Amino acid sequence: MSIILTKEMLQMKEMIGHFVEREVDPLAMQIEEEDAIPQHLVEQAKTLGLFGISIPEQYGGIGLNAVGKATVLEQLGRTHNGFVSLISAHTGIGSTGLVKLASEHLKAKYLPDMAAGTKIGAFALSEPGAGSDATNLSTTAEKKGDCWVMNGTKHFITNGPIADVYTVFALTDRSKGAKGGITAFLVERGFPGLIVGKKDKKMGLRGSYTSQVIFENCIIPEENVIGEVGMGYISALTILGEGRVGLAARAVGSCGKLIELSAKYAKERIQFGKPIAGNQAIQWMLADMATETEAARALTMMAAQKIDEGKKVIKEASMAKLFASDVFNRVADKAVQIHGGMGYMAEYPVERFYRDARITKIYEGTNEIQRLIIARNVLQEC
Ligand SMILES: Cc1cc2nc3c(=O)[nH]c(=O)nc-3n(C[C@H](O)[C@H](O)[C@H](O)COP(=O)(O)OP(=O)(O)OC[C@H]3O[C@@H](n4cnc5c(N)ncnc54)[C@H](O)[C@@H]3O)c2cc1C
Repeated sequence: MSIILTKEMLQMKEMIGHFVEREVDPLAMQIEEEDAIPQHLVEQAKTLGLFGISIPEQYGGIGLNAVGKATVLEQLGRTHNGFVSLISAHTGIGSTGLVKLASEHLKAKYLPDMAAGTKIGAFALSEPGAGSDATNLSTTAEKKGDCWVMNGTKHFITNGPIADVYTVFALTDRSKGAKGGITAFLVERGFPGLIVGKKDKKMGLRGSYTSQVIFENCIIPEENVIGEVGMGYISALTILGEGRVGLAARAVGSCGKLIELSAKYAKERIQFGKPIAGNQAIQWMLADMATETEAARALTMMAAQKIDEGKKVIKEASMAKLFASDVFNRVADKAVQIHGGMGYMAEYPVERFYRDARITKIYEGTNEIQRLIIARNVLQEC
């Protein structure tokens, strides 16, 4: 498989590389300490068009294809994962439903502001009783006149506290469940009955906020159904499939950065009178880190390319997410090991990457669930 990037894409990759190195990396410690992304950084990201990478040009976005988006997300993955999470949740699961499945009216109404980053998107599927089993929703939406009335609680919603538009999944026909009884809605923060919970305290991803989003007789206009009534579970799978490729790309970017940091440290750190890089034990760790990262990149780009070819990627997206997130965790662990005690210190970025890697095995479907999806597909194919 060979991926050839256009000249424009190569230029964009370089530009984002400079942005993360010159503008985001120097603020990583501040983001950690304040658990907040400096507003001027958000404004810079808007100017660069990062909030619109996946939104078509006709709505003001850059309209990258899946390979282009994976390339951008890999570059972003090299820096603070909390900052990247804000953008990737918005450009991924927070807007894919609108871009791919919504009516022209909804696209024209919401996408221009989302492309500009003036309206932030979020994806609200998970509930206290519906995590891995996302079909077990308690949130309901009942048709009353020309509106829907939504009740229920979503939790762990990335961008929840700051989002303006939420793609929300609710039961619209309990008797049908996931097979025709779940519907996706576009819910605005200002709709009566939408309540945002307080920010969750997390292990990592500082600066990226998650919270509960609660619906108490929330009134949603009929036109804000995304796609067809009853087809919400299929919509969720479509949105998550593409999101998983983006998550894998970010993980690959983080691995690339960790390899560079570790190789540099290994060459500089002297023990027993020579750089630790001279020891085979260190070299083998670097070799495994580099090999696994290349394999994760290949799997990710293969899935992205298939999306661009219009092919079904449920299995490939799960493979990319599963493998890249596992590799990210192994690479982060080795990076800490190569840094020795320094790797445990917050002043070194590897400590942050190590904490931030952990969530990639859990969200957008745990890695156990990815294995179930892959196995189900393999059993069907063979
Ligand atoms: C920081 C963060 C951000 C998030 N952002 C979002 C978001 O933006 N939108 C959103 O909708 N959700 C979001 N989530 C929720 C996330 O997708 C879920 O946490 C995840 O899907 C797992 O669900 P759960 O936490 O309920 O775990 P559970 O489903 O309770 O799983 C617990 C354990 O059991 C395992 N398990 C469960 N069922 C099976 C099975 N059949 N076979 C084998 N093992 C199984 C799981 O793999 C896991 O190891 C976020 C979560 C976090 C922590």
